[in-house]
Amino acid sequence: MERIYLDYNATTPLSKEVFDFYVKELGEYANGSSLHEDGRKVAASIEKARKQVAHLINVDPKGVIFTSGGSESNNTVLNTMPEYAKKAGRSVIVTTAIEHPCVLEASRRLANNFGMEVIYLPVDEYGTVDMEAYKAALEKKPLLVSIMTANNEIGTIQDVKTLCAMAHQAGALFHTDAVQAVGKIPVDLKDWDVDYATISGHKIYGPKGIGALYIKPGSPIEPLIRGGHQEHGLRAGTYNGPAIAAFGYAAELAEEGLPEYEKHTRALRNRLRDGLLSAIPGIKINGHETNVLPNTLDVSFPGAEGEAILLHLDLLGVSASTGSACASASLDPSHVLMATGLGPELAHGSIRFSFGKYSKAEDVDYIVEKFPPVIEQLRKMSTVSYTHN
Ligand SMILES: *Cc1c(COP(=O)(O)O)cnc(C)c1O
Repeated sequence: MERIYLDYNATTPLSKEVFDFYVKELGEYANGSSLHEDGRKVAASIEKARKQVAHLINVDPKGVIFTSGGSESNNTVLNTMPEYAKKAGRSVIVTTAIEHPCVLEASRRLANNFGMEVIYLPVDEYGTVDMEAYKAALEKKPLLVSIMTANNEIGTIQDVKTLCAMAHQAGALFHTDAVQAVGKIPVDLKDWDVDYATISGHKIYGPKGIGALYIKPGSPIEPLIRGGHQEHGLRAGTYNGPAIAAFGYAAELAEEGLPEYEKHTRALRNRLRDGLLSAIPGIKINGHETNVLPNTLDVSFPGAEGEAILLHLDLLGVSASTGSACASASLDPSHVLMATGLGPELAHGSIRFSFGKYSKAEDVDYIVEKFPPVIEQLRKMSTVSYTHN
């Protein structure tokens, strides 16, 4: 049987169009910095991709640099802060408790190795940033605020435009990790007026190992990787021309396909949500009801354990996830769900289904048919007795 892939937030396949284009581009081997004709040809396709990526997020292409992905882009912004702190004579950073591990780990380093103060904003039960806590944090005159546009586990979308305006009012720079938002909801960085933004190729049907960082002209930035003069000296290393070109094409397709993508994934997400709610008693849908990514459904199954559920889903031919892929090697409950106030039992028994371009209604119907008996069985086996009411 064909497997059912419902883990698009962990990564997407290359779309069929991007696959064919990328394979063709792999033959373009020249160094994009070389001055000869072969090099100039690669440089031209890199500049085309820069325009395509910039257009997707509505910024000036001059502000876009290519990186190895979302993790590198996020690290580049945060690792700029120690130098900037020295110049500015301030050292507070504000982020949230539900960021991707690459933001949390890079922030932890700023606190541990550079004596900076990092404030991790709490969120409410839906995953929305606590505004009172944010206002209080801004009183401390932070250098930088870093808040993700949409969460990878529960899909909750933040009001980036308002959060950014508040940061600017308080004299802080604003960064958003928009990796999960682009291609799923409209992302207009010019309107939001952010200073930095992160996006990644493999979350929008492009290649892995390629991404971009948007830097508003004039905003401070220190290269993470030093060496050659590529990307105005902000990111050294020979251009990965084929991956950049394919990322650009993926960005163009993501922009074109956005309305259809939203509609398609939302219908499937809601079909699964409604199917599970009517077939399995006592379950809880996590995240915000309306400010949520159209493709993301995170569900707690009290009385059953996440890893066991995942294994059974796997046996049924379904690929889903417990929380974030990056944290799944550890058995700690999801930091995102814990931040929304779920107890460890519910947080442990949670599954993220994330839909995409190639998901189908019959996949959902198959799960709604086969999955409830599995939960019933797991609940019976569970050592913690479970009663719902
Ligand atoms: C996947 C992801 C990243 C990491 O991007 P990579 O390109 O895999 O390094 C960062 N932030 C969020 C929200 C993500 O979902």
